[in-house]
Order: sequence, then C-alpha cells, then structure tokens
Amino acid sequence: MVITVALLPTLAIIASLPFNIFGFGLLSGWLGTGLISASLLLMVREPIWADWFGGLQRMYQWHHGMGIMGYVLLLAHPLLLAGHYLTLNPDIAWQYLLPFNSHLPNFLGWAALIAFMLGLAATFALRLPYGLWRRIHVLLAAAMVLGLSHVWTADGFSFSLMAALLPAVIAVAWRLLRADHGIGARPYEVSAVHHPTEQITEVVVQPLSTPMPIAQGQFVSTAFFEGSNFQGCGEFHPYTVSHVTKNNSLVLTIKALGDCTRHIQSLEPGVAVRLQGPYGNFLLNRPSTPEVWIAAGIGITPFLALLRNHPVTQHTDMAYIHRESSNAPYENELQTYATNQNLLRFQSLAMANDPAPLFEWLTNITRLSERHVYLCGPPPLITLITHWLQEQGVPRLQIHFEQFDFR
Ligand SMILES: Cc1cc2nc3c(=O)[nH]c(=O)nc-3n(C[C@H](O)[C@H](O)[C@H](O)COP(=O)(O)OP(=O)(O)OC[C@H]3O[C@@H](n4cnc5c(N)ncnc54)[C@H](O)[C@@H]3O)c2cc1C
Repeated sequence: MVITVALLPTLAIIASLPFNIFGFGLLSGWLGTGLISASLLLMVREPIWADWFGGLQRMYQWHHGMGIMGYVLLLAHPLLLAGHYLTLNPDIAWQYLLPFNSHLPNFLGWAALIAFMLGLAATFALRLPYGLWRRIHVLLAAAMVLGLSHVWTADGFSFSLMAALLPAVIAVAWRLLRADHGIGARPYEVSAVHHPTEQITEVVVQPLSTPMPIAQGQFVSTAFFEGSNFQGCGEFHPYTVSHVTKNNSLVLTIKALGDCTRHIQSLEPGVAVRLQGPYGNFLLNRPSTPEVWIAAGIGITPFLALLRNHPVTQHTDMAYIHRESSNAPYENELQTYATNQNLLRFQSLAMANDPAPLFEWLTNITRLSERHVYLCGPPPLITLITHWLQEQGVPRLQIHFEQFDFR
C-alpha cells in the first residue's frame, strides 16, 4: 500500500514523459517526491501498521530507507535535467546547477535539497541528544514544504502534486495529533510507585477505561501528566511492560536516563497517565528450541515480563549484564526463577566496557550456533554482541533484538 502511494505521482504522468534524459530527470523528481511523501506515513505510531511491518522499529527502518532512496532520486533530478540542457546550451545547464539563482522554482528546489541534506545528516548523527535530534528532524518537514512548493511553481497544480501532497499532510497531522498529543490514548492512573534502586522506578498504572491487551515483552508509549504534587513532562516515551497484574494494571520499570525519566523518580500515586500501543513483537512467536537471553541493564524488562508471567518452556540460558553487583536490582528475583525452573540457567555478569566475561560465558554454551539468541539493551552493545555471535557461526536470522532507542 505504501509503495503504491509512493508510485502514484509518477504513475499519473509516466505516459506523458519523453524517453530521454529529460524524461528520466522528471521521473526521478516525481519518484523521489512520492517516496519521501509516502515514507512520512511510516512515522505514525499506529500499532496495526507497525504489526504489518513486523514491529515499530522495522517500520522506522522502512521510513528511513524510503526517505534516503527518495533523497538520492531528488539529487539525481537536477543533475539529469542539467545533463539534458548541456546538450543544448552549457550556460543553461550551469544555471540549472547553481543553487542560488533568480528562477523561483530552482531556488525552492535547491533550498529543499539542502534542507533535506541537513535533516538527514541529523537523522543519522545518532550521538545528538534525543530532543535536539527531534527538533532538527523537523527540518525534513520544512524540506518537504519547499520541495512541494518547487513542484507547484515549476509545474502548476496537478494530480501528481496532489498525490504527493496529501499523504504528507495526512501523515504529519496524524503523527502530531495521535502520537505526540495522544488523541485517543487510553487513560490510566498511577496506583503505586516503588524504587528498587536509586535510579530505577517501578510504576504500577491501573486502567481507567478498557484495559489495553498486552502480550509479554511488548511496550507502550506512555506520558505522565499531573498529580497533586507532580507535573510530568507530558511527552510520550516508550517503556516495556514488565508485568501485567491480575487486575489488568501494568508495571513499568523505568530507569532515569534523561530529563523526563529523572523526573519520573518523584512520581506519586494518583498521577494521570496516557498510554498508546501496544507495540513490539520481540519475544512473540518464538520457535520451541533452546534459547539464549542476554539483557543489559534496563534491557531486562521484556525478559522480566516473560518470567513473571510463566515458567520457561524450553532450555534457556540467560545472562543479566550490569555495571556493578550493587546495581543489579533484579538479580535475586531472577536467581529465584532459575532455582525453581529446571529449564532456566541464569548468570549475573558484572562488567563495564570490556565484554570479555559475556563472550566467555557464551563460549561455554553447548551448540550455541543452533540457538536463537534474544538481546535487549543499548544499541552499541547489541551491535557488538551481534557481530561476535555471527563470527561464532550463529546465523543472523537466529539473532533477535530490541533496541531501547528509536530514531
Ligand atoms: C522499544 C523501547 C522500549 C523501552 N523500554 C524501556 C523500559 O522498559 N524501561 C526504561 O527505563 N526505558 C525503556 N526505554 C528507553 C526509554 O524510552 C528512554 O530511556 C526514555 O525515553 C528517555 O527519555 P528522557 O527524556 O528521560 O531522556 P533523554 O535524554 O531525552 O533520552 C535518553 C535516550 O533515550 C532515548 N529516547 C528518548 N526519548 C525517546 C522517545 N520519545 N522515544 C524513543 N527513545 C527515546 C534516546 O535514545 C535518548 O538518547 C525503551 C525504549 C524503547 C525504544
């Protein structure tokens, strides 16, 4: 469906394009515009859409992939048109390639390309603080407006322009209203707050309307609002549900990692909460073969959700990585599960930046290359472990992970 939306502006004009370099120039422009416009539909956080793509993170990968492909095609657009004019008059070709010239459509087109370039550079500069990254990402919306203005001034209002404009407007409005302002999000209320460690807050939220159906390991997009002495940051952030109680309350286990999550440490019962979701398929539909689970720090939450719900049903070797033993709040709980379940073997691993203890533990697992491995934690560690596992012969398709970061 998204691909059809991406192709629609091009399909509407393809029959009228000349079969030469000029035609290819126009084709790359329309295809690029259509791809970028349709890619915006993939930034909405609708659980059903995310399921179609195999999860929100996979859907965002498509969003990025289509955006980049679109940008490359848009870059090719002025080059191909200039190539066409080169055969007629090199001066006109040169004018075409100059970003700052007096011809309004060209000026708008180049301004769009530059805004896209800056926005994309920020998108992939993962080290930027999240809030700043998000604000710079908005540049891409400005780039889209400039790009569509370029089409309008160059070509007038056409069906193709409308086919590119509509998905973009719908997607941006949908994303702002639903995901960012939480229209339609389910109302919950904080019913209890615990502090297993200085940095971790366990929050129990109870439904005030129909409870959300959650499968083990799934996550919800959550915003904390007001209580009598607490004012939440009101933004939606993703947290894994670490337990669903019998009365449909949800437990969120939240580590203080930035402004919003630090503030959550002073949360109190009675605070209004809004939830969207559920999202994620990290631990769903697993084959019934022996498994390895690796949880780093707060990446323990999806595994807690499984273990708190029922005993493991297949041989499972689990490692819980943490920086120091004094800061491993779930060690005792996990050790108790392992003591009571024959199929579960548990190892607590205190390690800082050197992954050697983890690799040593993995080396001792029998038939590691036949196991399905489930990883959850910070992206750099996941990348490191994934590479190591592949070097040890574990096929990529047997390595599954949830990254606690989406961009
Ligand atoms: C699928 C998923 C499940 C998660 N589950 C848990 C969990 O169970 N417990 C837990 O403590 N944390 C979890 N997180 C991480 C949590 O969302 C971030 O720690 C939190 O959003 C940080 O917000 P902040 O404003 O305090 O910090 P910031 O300083 O704004 O951000 C710290 C880091 O958190 C990430 N982040 C910030 N805001 C968002 C956002 N809106 N969406 C996605 N990532 C963001 C970014 O990587 C950023 O670099 C999960 C994240 C994802 C993607």
